[in-house]
Amino acid sequence: MSAPDPPHKGANRHDSAVTPTPPELPIDEHELLADLTEMLTIPSVSGSPAEPEVQAWLADRWRREGLDVDQWDIDLPSITADPQFPGMEVDRAHAIGVTATLHGSGGGTTLLLDGHTDVVPPGDLDAWSGDPFVVRRMDVDGQDCLVARGATDMKAGVASMWAAVRAVARAGVPLRGDVILAPVSGEEDGGLGTFALLRHGVKADMCIVPEPTELHIVPGNGGALTFRLTIRGRAAHASMRTSGVSTIEKLIPVFTALQDLEAARNVDVDPIMDRWPIAYPLSIGTVQAGDWASTVPDLLVANGRLGVAIGESVEQARAELEQAVAAACAADPWLAEHPVDVTWWGGQFASGRTDPAHPITGIVRDEHVALFGAEPDVYGGPYGSDLRLLTGIGGIPTVHYGPGVPPAAHAPDEYVPVQQVIDAAHSLARMIVRICA
Ligand SMILES: [Zn+2]
Repeated sequence: MSAPDPPHKGANRHDSAVTPTPPELPIDEHELLADLTEMLTIPSVSGSPAEPEVQAWLADRWRREGLDVDQWDIDLPSITADPQFPGMEVDRAHAIGVTATLHGSGGGTTLLLDGHTDVVPPGDLDAWSGDPFVVRRMDVDGQDCLVARGATDMKAGVASMWAAVRAVARAGVPLRGDVILAPVSGEEDGGLGTFALLRHGVKADMCIVPEPTELHIVPGNGGALTFRLTIRGRAAHASMRTSGVSTIEKLIPVFTALQDLEAARNVDVDPIMDRWPIAYPLSIGTVQAGDWASTVPDLLVANGRLGVAIGESVEQARAELEQAVAAACAADPWLAEHPVDVTWWGGQFASGRTDPAHPITGIVRDEHVALFGAEPDVYGGPYGSDLRLLTGIGGIPTVHYGPGVPPAAHAPDEYVPVQQVIDAAHSLARMIVRICA
C-alpha cells in the first residue's frame, strides 16, 4: 500500500520552479554491468577476509577516477566498546571504512549515498543452479537478470550509485554540494560499517541508501533485536522420563506466549507498514536442546529475532518480550522456580523513520516520476537496516531507494533485473543533480 507524502511547497529551496536536471545523463550501461559483475565475484560474506576486499577494490577504482577517496582501518576494539555500538554477530579481525567524494563548489546540499558491500553466506549450495560467486546472466520470470549472491542485496545498488556519480562527473554538471559514496561492511550483522562511518565524522544533509526496493521509496523501517532464551530442566534417563524435566516441553508455553505477544504487537501498526501481513515479526530461528536421544534434555538454548515497531524504543520492545516470558514462567510450576533467562546479543537494530515533513521523500518521488512517469509506492520496511543509524545517530534524513527484488535477498539464485540496475543509475543521477546543484 502506498502512503503518499504531503506536498512540500515552500518547505525548502529545492522547490524552486526550475529543476536543474538535464533530461538524461549518459549512463554507460556496459561499464555499470561490468562493475557490478566484478563486485559480485568477490565473495564478501560478512566477517570474511573478502569483506574489506570489495571496499578496497572500489576505493582503488574511485581513486583512479579522480574522486577524493578516504580509506581507513576501523579500530574494532574501540568501536565495539562504544556504548551506542549496534552489535555484531560474526568475528572480525579486520574492517575498513571508505568514502569517495565528488566535491561541489560549496554552499550546496551534501548527499550521502550509503550502500553495504557485505553479503550473507550462500546457504545450501545444492539450492543454487551454479556457483553463488560466479555471475550468470539469465532469464528469471521473463526478465533479463544477473544471478549471484549479493545481486539484489545490494551490490546492484552500490554499482548504480557509482554509475550515477560517474555520469554526473563526466557530464561536468556543476554542483554546489558534495556527493559522498560510502560502501560499508557489517550491515548484515548489525551495522558496524555505517556506525563507524558516522563515528569517523562523515556528515551529510540527506542520504539515499539504494537497498533493494524495486525503485519504490522506503523512508522508515521496523527494527530487529536478536535475543537468546536459555531454559534449564532436569536430566534423567529417558526410560524414567517423568523423574526429569524436559526443556523441550518447557519451551512450549514460552513459545505460545511469544506467538500471543507477536499478535498483540501487530494490532495497531503505523500506516506505512500496512502492506505487510506481519509488520513486526517475532520469530525463533534456532533451537538447541539435549545431547543424547535417550536422555531428558536439561538445557535448551533458542535464538530469535524480535521486530521493533516504528516509534517504539529498543528498551520498550525488550521489556515487552521479557514481561511475556516472565508471565509464562510464573504460570508454570517448574519455570516459576527456574525462570527462563533472556539475553540480548548480536544485531540490535532499532526502528527508524525519516521525518515525513522533510523534503527528501518528495524529491526522490518527483525525480522518479519525472523519469519514469509512474508514481512509486512509499512504504515502511519490515527489516532492520542502516537507515536507523543514519537517521538516529547521524541525524541524516534517509530513504531507501534502489534496484533489486526484496524476496530474492538472502535466497538461493539471488537475482537482480538488469533493467532495474540501469534505471536506478539514471534516476540516482537525476537525484544527485536535483539535490546538490
Ligand atoms: Zn541489504
